[in-house]
Amino acid sequence: MKQIVIISGKGGTGKTSLTASFAWLAGKNTVVADCDVDAADMHLVTAPETLEKRDFFSGYEAVINPETCVGCGDCVEVCHFDAIEPEGEVYKVLPVECEGCGYCARICPVEAIEMKLLKAGDIFVARTRMDNLLVHARLGIGSDMSGKLVAEVRKEARQQAEKTDVEYILIDGSPGIGCPVTASVTGTDYVVLVTEPTLSGMHDLERVLKVVQNFGIPAGCVINKADIHTEMAGRLKAFLKEQSIELLAEIPYSSVFSKAINAGKSVVEMEDPGVVGRIKKAWEIIIQRNVEPEK
Ligand code: SF4
Ligand code: SF4
Repeated sequence: MKQIVIISGKGGTGKTSLTASFAWLAGKNTVVADCDVDAADMHLVTAPETLEKRDFFSGYEAVINPETCVGCGDCVEVCHFDAIEPEGEVYKVLPVECEGCGYCARICPVEAIEMKLLKAGDIFVARTRMDNLLVHARLGIGSDMSGKLVAEVRKEARQQAEKTDVEYILIDGSPGIGCPVTASVTGTDYVVLVTEPTLSGMHDLERVLKVVQNFGIPAGCVINKADIHTEMAGRLKAFLKEQSIELLAEIPYSSVFSKAINAGKSVVEMEDPGVVGRIKKAWEIIIQRNVEPEK
């Protein structure tokens, strides 16, 4: 089983549209992991029917039972995060400050402190209209656990892939270069970089490529909207050559990307041979680069 991640240094490059197209081309031979957990939108074009849903817990938080607390203040002394303050004759925990270390609960003389599991979101396993499985997630409001959630989505996708014996896990990675991207890329077999010929596209590609090169993972690149700035597209291609990154496709600007989203479809299901042909060709190359060795 091969894990292929699609990333871009920033949002709006067509990354998710490409992932959805690859998912359509791969059909039931793939599990899709939507790791763009802060802005998950793969479900918009895949019409998933939920098969399983489970809670995602990101850690613990201390809760003081005011009925049991005797107001000794010992917990305040040991908390390094100033997360406990008086409330009348007893004490209370400030949830935003609490790091869940559990020190206070261990020293409380009357066992008034309980360490509660903290729910940070939900993880879903669904069957898409493309007949593949989709693992996606919803992060709780105010939760900043996206790196951990990405790791959890990938773990679930891997378990599902092993259960169903599929050939590929397609990962729609998080944009940017932070912790969620690292969690999207680590341990994968191939990275598809998606960029566009703009100054920020060039800058973001350079940054995200550094992350990929740190892991030593083979990569190819799709230049989307390649004709909006031919000189910049030329610079991108020269950079890719210099970095030994294969150019998988140059896709011209097309309104078919937004039309496909509005129609709830992937781009390769639309009528635009110039674009569709290039995406199909890119997928063929990706498959060739990810052939399982003979056993
Ligand atoms: S250590 Fe226990 S009893 Fe003492 S103030 Fe804290 S919660 Fe209350
Ligand atoms: S769990 Fe740790 S951080 Fe939270 S209140 Fe207790 S001592 Fe402070």
